[in-house]
Amino acid sequence: MRRICVLNQKGGVGKTTTTVNLGAALARAGRRVVLVDLDPQGNLSTHLSLEVGEDEPSSYSVLVGEHSIEQALRRTSIRGLSVVPTGIDLSGAEMELATLEQRESVMKRAVDAFENESYGRTGAPPAEYVIFDCPPSLGLLSLNALVASREVFVALQTEFLALQGMTRLLEVVRLVKQNLNPDLKVTGIVPCLYDNRLRLAREVLTELRSFFPGHVFRRAIGTTVKLAEAPSFGQSIFEYAPDCSGARDYAELAEEVVAQEKRPVTRGAEEGLLVAEPPKADALANAAARPAASPVTSAGAATSTTASTQGAAPVADPARS
Ligand code: ADP
Ligand code: MG
Repeated sequence: MRRICVLNQKGGVGKTTTTVNLGAALARAGRRVVLVDLDPQGNLSTHLSLEVGEDEPSSYSVLVGEHSIEQALRRTSIRGLSVVPTGIDLSGAEMELATLEQRESVMKRAVDAFENESYGRTGAPPAEYVIFDCPPSLGLLSLNALVASREVFVALQTEFLALQGMTRLLEVVRLVKQNLNPDLKVTGIVPCLYDNRLRLAREVLTELRSFFPGHVFRRAIGTTVKLAEAPSFGQSIFEYAPDCSGARDYAELAEEVVAQEKRPVTRGAEEGLLVAEPPKADALANAAARPAASPVTSAGAATSTTASTQGAAPVADPARS
């Protein structure tokens, strides 16, 4: 059972959209998927029209030990896709958890129990994927997701300052790996809200690929209003607009995620990502801030050093490179 934490301490970068639609795409491909809403704002739960009344099981009640994951699971209209929704109390959970012993591993124990109980009963895992949607912070809720996970997918918006905060994020992942969860790895970077008409977006994507070779998914998720509209209809993109580019993007992302199971990340690349500072985050920000006429901001010039060392030539639209 893969356990994946969708992380970025910035809000509005596409974490929830990715968790919902990647989860839906994997379920449509025949996998059993459990999404866990760990954001007190409950966007994931709302996106899939799940309402949680007071005292009903939720990620909050799992965290405070009142319910098991099994008890808190809600089916969705997509076959194979279940959700542990957020209850209204989750915003207070960080305070309540703060006084508990081993407060950072409450969710891990719940997921372990969920997995072990299923193996004991049926000889099989309860799902192929558990995916955590994190809040826009690196507090105790995200920490619980990181300790319960084995993999981190970083959702990034392909825009100015995309890499700002990445050093801190990778440092937190490294610390969690070192002290709490030796299995943890960053196994994917999902470029979100990608507008390939914008030179800046193309440059950011090219830079990302050169900073983190082998880690950025080939399919960048394009910006489309359908993805922004789907939540207000309580639907994933596959129900709301199955023929739009957003549905195709998330279906392709899901194919890559499944393909990772046959092609694990090489050890060197993985460690490089965990220990490396994103080398030119400031340089990127500065380059992106220069006027369009500046030769330094052309995709080739901005990436020539890193791209050549990685053997990757800049391309006109790096979304499929
Ligand atoms: P986060 O969970 O990181 O805060 P969201 O997934 O909620 O980010 O996305 C922030 C906003 O951007 C939401 O209104 C969402 O509907 C919208 N959005 C996300 N991805 C896309 C996209 N590819 N195209 C258009 N709008 C998007
Ligand atoms: Mg969110």
